Amino acid sequence: MPHILIVEDEAAIADTLIFALQGEGFTTTWLSLGAAALEHQRQTPADLIILDIGLPDISGFETCKQLRRFSEVPVIFLSARDAEIDRVVGLEIGADDYVVKPFSPREVAARVRAILKRIAPRVSVDAPLVLLRIDSERMQISYRNQPLNLTRHEFRLLQCLVEQPERVFSREQLLDALGVAADAGYDRSIDSHIKSVRAKLRSVKADAEPIQTHRGLGYSYSPGHS
Ligand code: CA
Repeated sequence: MPHILIVEDEAAIADTLIFALQGEGFTTTWLSLGAAALEHQRQTPADLIILDIGLPDISGFETCKQLRRFSEVPVIFLSARDAEIDRVVGLEIGADDYVVKPFSPREVAARVRAILKRIAPRVSVDAPLVLLRIDSERMQISYRNQPLNLTRHEFRLLQCLVEQPERVFSREQLLDALGVAADAGYDRSIDSHIKSVRAKLRSVKADAEPIQTHRGLGYSYSPGHS
């Protein structure tokens, strides 16, 4: 389920949004400060952010400006004023939509749905076949246009391999990429992560073997075997 981050200092407004969004099946996080929202998005990226412009610390505009340095997450601004300047500035800063208070929470939920639908990867028979697409922000990897359901470790592992095709990584180097200390015993955990990733790749294409084993050395990603 898409996760929505609500950044709004008025609890009553946040409550109505949370209620409407959860009613639509979204999960939500509510924060009341811009700085906290930036930190949160760095740690656990939401799929969309609803951002009030008048926040107690830094304004929603400033928050969005800083957000855009590291994230392309869709943003809907909440504004107390329906000034044309706000709309223009908001869109220039990189907002995707704009809602003026007072608003109908159901309308906001509908806009959230519309934006997420618009940005969802379009998969059709005509879509060019992209072998492996990495979306670091969402920690999502698609194989042959199909999103893989990877754990955090599996994602990092596959990302590490795919970013340098044909390079052989030792288990120690892969552990490093996972941010795991290379203690005895962890070597085996790389093997089991690889096994699981391979199974997930094969669930998309039965004879796919893009991850190659190099006996005594480690693993590589070889697009030729995809
Ligand atoms: Ca406010």
